[in-house]
Amino acid sequence: MTDTNILTDKYGRKHSYLRISLTERCNLRCTYCMPEHGVAVSPWGKLMSPDEVFEIAKRFVGMGVTKIRLTGGEPLVRKDFGQILEKLSTLDVELSLTSNAVIIDRYIDQLKAAGIKTVNISLDSLHPTKFKTITRRDNFDKVKQNIDKLIQEGFKVKINCVLIKGFNDNEIIDFIRYTQNNPVTVRFIEFMPFDGNRWNRDKLVSHEEILNMAFAEWSATGVERLVDEAHDTSRNYSVHGFQGSFAIISTVTNPFCDSCNRIRLTANGRIKNCLFSNSEVDLLTTFREGGDITPLVAQAIQAKAPIRGGMSTDESFSDPNNYNQNRSMIAIGG
Ligand code: SF4
Repeated sequence: MTDTNILTDKYGRKHSYLRISLTERCNLRCTYCMPEHGVAVSPWGKLMSPDEVFEIAKRFVGMGVTKIRLTGGEPLVRKDFGQILEKLSTLDVELSLTSNAVIIDRYIDQLKAAGIKTVNISLDSLHPTKFKTITRRDNFDKVKQNIDKLIQEGFKVKINCVLIKGFNDNEIIDFIRYTQNNPVTVRFIEFMPFDGNRWNRDKLVSHEEILNMAFAEWSATGVERLVDEAHDTSRNYSVHGFQGSFAIISTVTNPFCDSCNRIRLTANGRIKNCLFSNSEVDLLTTFREGGDITPLVAQAIQAKAPIRGGMSTDESFSDPNNYNQNRSMIAIGG
């Protein structure tokens, strides 16, 4: 089997998009991501070093990866983030970043130098008090300033907003209206179950509910359905005349696994073949022993379930016995 088939699973899905979590740490404490009691973080020595991130990423590029997204926790809290970015920027791959934007202003030049054009920013409320409630930190103004700065600096900005019923679903219209004079894409993400995030199906705001709100505000003719990019996890829309657009990522009510091209590398060097998969394959130990990680990658890809890590039904997906086996979101990086 040649290297370039390694990333194709038994359902014919080619996994050309690698999401690398650089750290399990963050400077925010979002309630749907970081369990109240925190998470046990891996000791520094168990995390991939900058050289290991680079070398392992290079092997994935050799296998057919064409896009790498850097995530966390919050990737920018890693003191050697700049070093990692510089190394990865030498690879023939599209680099992108997901961040909470609290300290991103310190990295604008490095991001540009590394060729990063798209940045996804997590922001779940346009109100400072609600921001503080959900992140357990008081950084709303800094995040808003930095989003404006990224737009001014010419980055393509996508805002990831996790919707939780009874908390921020009353801001859906405000978030869409924010795209009127800002060339951003606001992506509404369905609340997903992970270890320790007190997920409950009743807190879900569905694709349909979001659209109905938009139609009520701008009428069905005022909201245009856009063409989604290949492998896009989101369904995209825009309001006529608005600079930006909005999108809906409905993993719970409308999974999009049939065209999944994503695999994940955790900060401690383990491959996750699906966001919801409880099983992981350790690459870092073999890599550190000088062994070949290719067979391990093949093993992980061939073990991939068709839908949501094997939780294909709503019952299995909503069963805490299933999702509590998985990591908490902070240790996966979305
Ligand atoms: S749930 Fe898993 S298989 Fe489905 S799209 Fe997400 S990562 Fe891919």
